[in-house]
Amino acid sequence: MGTRKINANRIVVKVGTSSLIHPNGAINLETFDQLAYTLSALNNQGKELILVSSGAMGVGLNKMHLKQRPAEIGAQQALSAIGQSELMTLFTQRFDHYLTDIAQVLLTHDIFDYPKSNKFVMDTFNCLLKDNVVPVVNENDTVATDELDHRTTFGDNDQLSAIVASHMNADLLIVLSDIDGFYDQNPKKFTDAHLISEVSNVADDEFTVAGGSGSRFGTGGMHTKLLAAQRMLAENRQMVLANGKDPQIIFDILAGKPVGTLFSKECVTHE
Ligand code: ADP
Repeated sequence: MGTRKINANRIVVKVGTSSLIHPNGAINLETFDQLAYTLSALNNQGKELILVSSGAMGVGLNKMHLKQRPAEIGAQQALSAIGQSELMTLFTQRFDHYLTDIAQVLLTHDIFDYPKSNKFVMDTFNCLLKDNVVPVVNENDTVATDELDHRTTFGDNDQLSAIVASHMNADLLIVLSDIDGFYDQNPKKFTDAHLISEVSNVADDEFTVAGGSGSRFGTGGMHTKLLAAQRMLAENRQMVLANGKDPQIIFDILAGKPVGTLFSKECVTHE
């Protein structure tokens, strides 16, 4: 097995609901802890990290002892608002343990389209990164419903993480999900699905094999992850899709180990 050449200093890590919430609806404490540990260790090494975290709704459901999300968007937004503060409490506790400061940044997908707000957001990110604070980003579900209603054209935190990576000029986007990477067909449905280790172009063929969400709590499924990859490839940045069940996989990714699926314009695997 070869190694990949990954040179990344500014890194956006996106973690999906399916990594943060167990299938039974309970909080996955290990993921929270190991994510905080891994990002803190990298922060100490001088890497610049931005965490984009889903999970507000899942954490809200757990907090309110609900089994499934309410049908009305307003009720979903209320649940997200409850979950978001709980989500940040969980992250703050774990990051505190590893002596790392974090900050909450709530965004909407279009925020970067307006020059004035774009500048405010970029200034905020830059100040936080300069002070070694890890921004924890989520969509502001009170004012936008893209993440809640993923049938809208824009999307979700997969694409939000790509937008953030793009505007903040990140070298690498790491998308952590409940799956080992991108397969030639949905592995939750087809047992003979094969993991694709490297993808240099995302086109119709790839979208054809991308199905929807695999878990009760997941949102965009593979489609929105491919849209994020498409954006990264167009800008000559790299993206790795990997399994978030053990966030220390981020160390392996940065060490060039061939884990997950690497989306990269150039082949960077060396035998
Ligand atoms: P997250 O909450 O981490 O964003 P999602 O549930 O939205 O995760 O998306 C991941 C799911 O996408 C996987 O669990 C899998 O069931 C589904 N999926 C559909 N097509 C594919 C594919 N070709 N390769 C990998 N996963 C796929």
